[in-house]
Amino acid sequence: MINFFVLNQDLISFLFLLTGVAFTGMLIYVGVISIFEREYRAVRVSLILSMLILVVFLAIYLIDFPLKEVAEISILVFISLSLLILFIPFDSKRKHSYQIPTEKHDERNIMFSRNELKEGTEQYNNYYTSYPNHKDLDDKFRQKPGLLSPNASLYHPFAFASAHANLEVIERLKTQVNGPVKEKRTEVEASEITNYLKTWSKKLGAHSFGVTKLQNYHLYSHKGRGDLYGKPVENKQNYAIAITVEMDHEIMQTAPKSTVIMESTQQYLNSGTVAVQLASFIRELGYEARAHIDGNYEVICPLVARDAGLGEIGRMGLLMTPKLGPRVRIAVITTDIPLQIEKRKNHSSVIDFCEICKKCADICPSRSIPFEKRRAEIEGVLRWKINSESCFTYWCTVGTDCGRCMAVCPYAHSNNTMHNFIRWGIHNSYIFRRFALLMDDLFYGRKPKSRKLPSWIDN
Ligand code: SF4
Ligand code: SF4
Repeated sequence: MINFFVLNQDLISFLFLLTGVAFTGMLIYVGVISIFEREYRAVRVSLILSMLILVVFLAIYLIDFPLKEVAEISILVFISLSLLILFIPFDSKRKHSYQIPTEKHDERNIMFSRNELKEGTEQYNNYYTSYPNHKDLDDKFRQKPGLLSPNASLYHPFAFASAHANLEVIERLKTQVNGPVKEKRTEVEASEITNYLKTWSKKLGAHSFGVTKLQNYHLYSHKGRGDLYGKPVENKQNYAIAITVEMDHEIMQTAPKSTVIMESTQQYLNSGTVAVQLASFIRELGYEARAHIDGNYEVICPLVARDAGLGEIGRMGLLMTPKLGPRVRIAVITTDIPLQIEKRKNHSSVIDFCEICKKCADICPSRSIPFEKRRAEIEGVLRWKINSESCFTYWCTVGTDCGRCMAVCPYAHSNNTMHNFIRWGIHNSYIFRRFALLMDDLFYGRKPKSRKLPSWIDN
């Protein structure tokens, strides 16, 4: 009996030591991954925590003191219960409702359209007669140097020239968004062609692909850019395909510096190229297809992508994808080829996480992101609405499209096993979300600093 008790004591002590070593190893693993991600604060935190845990566990294991077994058992029970609470799938009863806009959005109201208005023209006068309350707000950004201006505060000759080069290619791509449909139609089966398009888009560089029925509220009411300014949008196609492409994690960490606009224009170009290729392929099969790419949209891409199951609209008003958060660019293809629509996944954990996180709102240099809860009165939809005017005025001051909010978002970490495990926990558990946010603040900081430009750009 005495032998049995002694044996069990040894087993408990061994389990206790093993737990300490496991936690230490896990934290060292986090530290190593963080070295590759160049997240040096996370490296320091994981090393300090791993050493602390190792010392505490070793001390308890090695030193004899009264009630040592009770202490070891209590710690093991506490850890087991904590892990159970954190990892058992558990969500709050409050499911966040799926929001359908009741009004169409006019593209003439977006900041890019307003930025293109030239003083003294008919379009300019008509716009500010219709929206006199926008005039003072827009005069503010017009007083700034402007996007990609050499006078902007974050001007960099190479990065800005690269962004100009990307935009120049996109300009040429815009002529290819539509085209003649081949007369002889190839009969296709919906699931087969959807799978083909999905697989091919991934080979072309897309990160995610989804299909939805094209809804009226996906379409702008009127065109706001280019030669068709003011023309009502009439797109009668049945389906919309949304694709996303990844924005480089390391470059986004330099936000709001010049490299960010270089990267965003690059990914507008990449997503646009994939969309133009897919649309051209569909027309080749004898079906209507139009690509919607940067500066040439008839649809609101984040809404289409959300309905195609690629994510949810978060606090910063962008599409939040499960694997990359907002760190994506979207392009859309509208078409009448028969397609298969997958059942929409539930992403309401994103809304719940955005409600508690507010990291983007904290970091935003122009204070454009709301801290409050979603509001129902905005265009008939319960959502967060950023202050587009103050955000765009900041862009026109620094000359880049900022992206600070995107860079610090806890969903935007690299797409690797460690972060995907945390994303899985965030998706599954209401309690894990709160824990993950605390850890994100501890490991990466509540307001992480912007990284230096890479040496190949700025040496
Ligand atoms: S930073 Fe936080 S609040 Fe902002 S979009 Fe990302 S998860 Fe939501
Ligand atoms: S892009 Fe920059 S200025 Fe605009 S909302 Fe995000 S952080 Fe704020």
